[in-house]
Amino acid sequence: MHEGSVGTALVGTALVTGAGRGIGRAVAIALADAGFKVVANDLPGSTDLAQTLAAIRERGGQAHGLPGDISDLARHQGLVEEAWNAFGSLECLVNNAGISVARRGDMLDVTPDSFDRLIEVNLRGPFFLTQAIARRMAEQVAEGFRSIITVSSINVEFASPDRAEYCISKSGLAMMSQLYATRLAPHGINTYEVRPGVIRTQMTAVAREKYDTLFAGGLAPIARWGEPEDLGRAVAMLASGALRYTTGEVVRVDGGLAIRRL
Ligand code: NAD
Repeated sequence: MHEGSVGTALVGTALVTGAGRGIGRAVAIALADAGFKVVANDLPGSTDLAQTLAAIRERGGQAHGLPGDISDLARHQGLVEEAWNAFGSLECLVNNAGISVARRGDMLDVTPDSFDRLIEVNLRGPFFLTQAIARRMAEQVAEGFRSIITVSSINVEFASPDRAEYCISKSGLAMMSQLYATRLAPHGINTYEVRPGVIRTQMTAVAREKYDTLFAGGLAPIARWGEPEDLGRAVAMLASGALRYTTGEVVRVDGGLAIRRL
């Protein structure tokens, strides 16, 4: 553990799931810029992951690649061991990996397979990975700030009936973050839920024109798409302990989209 570049925060090692591209990659890079050593996870066979590792190393940071499907609970113990062994400790977990629905459509047509898949990847995987990491963190007395940061979605509070199972999976994460906040505070582990609005990534590429039009029509007070780097900055700030007297807190990164307006 060493002094990081953000304020006087002590930073250490962070594990970021789904760090191959999009928000996860930007979070991994921002954490490295803040002084964290980064263990970057993505699906086995991901060619994107190598680019994230290269980007961090080019900037002078330290990174370790950790392939693994977070929905595969049998793989979790191995992931935890490797994440710990990469740099000797773990101070931060960022639950970022997630998927959208295979096909947007009427919620009256949602299939059990699609529902189960979204819950497996977006909720069941993060819940049990967090559990495995929390158990290990709880065994240790930490010197510095420790956190578990979960990337949910504006769909915790915005209903999109063409992606019902996505909205439900993300709503579960909101409660998960609060539950772990209460359970882990005695161990000196703070939790945060980061709630992105509409962010320009491959996940939202299918709806690019729709959101271009909506932003032009005043969808959010800050009239632009969110960029992955907007999330990177927010997560790095939280992970560095800037808000250390808050836990279970929600940070919206949505350009003001969630403000009720009249
Ligand atoms: P993305 O699809 O561009 O990237 C997701 C990454 O996660 C990919 O690299 C993918 O391979 C990886 N991944 C998927 N399933 C995985 C698994 N089972 N195990 C390990 N890695 C896995 O998506 P993104 O837009 O960067 O989204 C990142 C997170 O932010 C997701 O949880 C998403 O739901 C959430 N989010 C995104 C937006 C947005 O507008 N883009 C808005 C709200 C929330």
